[in-house]
Amino acid sequence: MPEDRFNRPLRDLRISVTDRCNFRCGYCMPAEVFGEGYRFLGRKELLDFEEITRLVGVIVRLGALKLRLTGGEPLVRPGLTQLVQLLAQYDAVEDFAMTTNAWHLAEHAPALKEAGLRRVTVSLDTLDEDIFLRMSGGRGRVGRVLEGIRAADEAGLGPIKINAVVQRGLNDHSLVDLARYGREQGHIIRFIEYMDVGTMNGWRMDDVVPAAEIVARIDAELPLEPLGRNYYGEVARRYRYRDGGGEIGLITSVTQPFCGACTRLRLSPEGRLFTCLFASEGIDLRGPLRAGASDDELEAIVRGTWRKREDRYSEERFALAQPREHKVEMYHIGG
Ligand code: SAM
Ligand code: SF4
Ligand code: SF4
Repeated sequence: MPEDRFNRPLRDLRISVTDRCNFRCGYCMPAEVFGEGYRFLGRKELLDFEEITRLVGVIVRLGALKLRLTGGEPLVRPGLTQLVQLLAQYDAVEDFAMTTNAWHLAEHAPALKEAGLRRVTVSLDTLDEDIFLRMSGGRGRVGRVLEGIRAADEAGLGPIKINAVVQRGLNDHSLVDLARYGREQGHIIRFIEYMDVGTMNGWRMDDVVPAAEIVARIDAELPLEPLGRNYYGEVARRYRYRDGGGEIGLITSVTQPFCGACTRLRLSPEGRLFTCLFASEGIDLRGPLRAGASDDELEAIVRGTWRKREDRYSEERFALAQPREHKVEMYHIGG
């Protein structure tokens, strides 16, 4: 099994199945940039389901134990359930999840479960209807997302995690409401520090609410205590409620980076491999795949790419003399 330059093994694979999305979250795909005329990938540019399945098989052979479908919005890719069924065949995979905005989750949850998906993570930044509408670029309604979460829970796609990106002055007034909702419903809310992914969101450090502050603000109303990590490479810092009411997670990529244990590889919708969320370039697998490369040849490319990996952007962020100019966009590789 390959290790990278910092002795990190390859354990997780995130598969972005589309660069399209029905939302326009300002921190990911701002509506001003991704308007009517924006050119997304065409059908022929996208990997088809057989191609994705084959590449995933190669990467699973190299040690990936966890798969996550993402995007863009994975549920806007037609026939996604078929892909789930194809990917569920890999016995070596220990965990198979999807990250979604849940807009189309209620209608698909039972079929996704049936096809072999194990869990979903839903993105929901606030329960405040007006702010959610604004944060989703005028597209989202809280009630419909909550219905999607309920349907996924009923279909057995839990324990459900909920991702909330926190932006100062925008949704940080509703942290405790979200925490209470998670406690009541038995879902794990994961508060994510707003990150400087891509180049389109106009990120400023002033907009980041540090995880320590998020914890302090929740702890003041709902007392918390820290928990240890579940497994090597777990990125969330976990806290539990002192009264036994469940737990929350914090994704501290800005204030307390975790590159040292980052075991993630990302496959983009058009078949490029990215070794970091902040990478500027991906390694093309679609070219060799469509030119007839064998599984062993594809495996050699992935192995070589992982062995050369020396990414640790979040640890270097504040030491860089210049901000990195070219970074892949989040909607393209899926967080
Ligand atoms: N569309 C799906 C969704 O929103 O769940 C999957 C793709 S989305 C890119 C994956 C995750 O990345 C979401 O939870 C989203 O909130 C998060 N994300 C996007 N841009 C971010 C940013 N600038 N900082 C932190 N998290 C971000
Ligand atoms: Fe779409 Fe997810 Fe990005 Fe929001 S975070 S714009 S839902 S891909
Ligand atoms: Fe992994 Fe890159 Fe994020 Fe560091 S910055 S944790 S290497 S994806």
